[in-house]
Amino acid sequence: MTTSAEPKAVLITGASSGIGEATARRLAEIGHRVLLGARRTDRLAALADELRAGGGFVAYRELDVTSLDSMQAFSAAGLREFGRIDVLVNNAGVMSLSPIADLRIAEWEQMIDVNLRGVLNGIAAVLPQMQRQAAGQIVNVSSVSGHRVDPTAAVYSATKFAVTALSEGLRQENRDVRVTVVSPGFTQSELTHHGGAAEARAAAHAAAEQLAIPASAIADAIAFAIDQPANVDVNELIVRPTAQA
Ligand code: NDP
Repeated sequence: MTTSAEPKAVLITGASSGIGEATARRLAEIGHRVLLGARRTDRLAALADELRAGGGFVAYRELDVTSLDSMQAFSAAGLREFGRIDVLVNNAGVMSLSPIADLRIAEWEQMIDVNLRGVLNGIAAVLPQMQRQAAGQIVNVSSVSGHRVDPTAAVYSATKFAVTALSEGLRQENRDVRVTVVSPGFTQSELTHHGGAAEARAAAHAAAEQLAIPASAIADAIAFAIDQPANVDVNELIVRPTAQA
């Protein structure tokens, strides 16, 4: 195990697969204390057991980021467990690709609820504690789709553009709190496994199969931002496959 310069108490949403799981692995490996959150607690329990067996300080708790109550309970559990909250990684997200004209309104609402409301709930749940500490860091996982719009991805992109705007406002207003946006490109995960129009999902899945970088590449970027000295705030990192357009 390599040890981080300063072990931190880190809360991770969406830690049951993909980028969240890889981030939990990386942060636990370098000595940070992590609280894992997601709805699939069987996955979280297995991951927590594995990381503890490797010497990690890891706890988990069921979390639905679309519920402010659930997010606040998650934050309170982190505070009880660690005595402070140094970092929240707002990673949970869903992507349902379809042309706007398909009017898949329930999927639009789900993306807004998880990708945008979920990030706001995360901020609401930890910001008061970080203000009391006069220190903290919020890492919001956006996307290359938070920088460019492609057909079938308009609503997903809209939620991710919103995350960037929100992060910049948060940063400007809270000088004690570091704010980092990490924007992945195609990354190996379960993101393209569900939702959206079949044709659009198949196209995204095929592109991901061909290009995707391992989730550990994004985890490394998150670890890099967290491990900077307190007076250094890495505001944005875009990490994509070299061959991605
Ligand atoms: P995965 O589908 O593998 O992981 C998504 C995670 O979000 C899961 O752990 C899932 O857990 C969690 N989640 C979904 N809904 C909720 C909810 N309501 N409450 C709590 N957790 C929830 O995909 P990725 O790892 O790829 O996604 C992580 C982030 O990365 C997302 O924000 C995504 O938009 C972003 N991203 C991914 C890219 C990629 O190519 N993979 C590219 C750009 C950005 P559970 O179902 O157990 O609740």
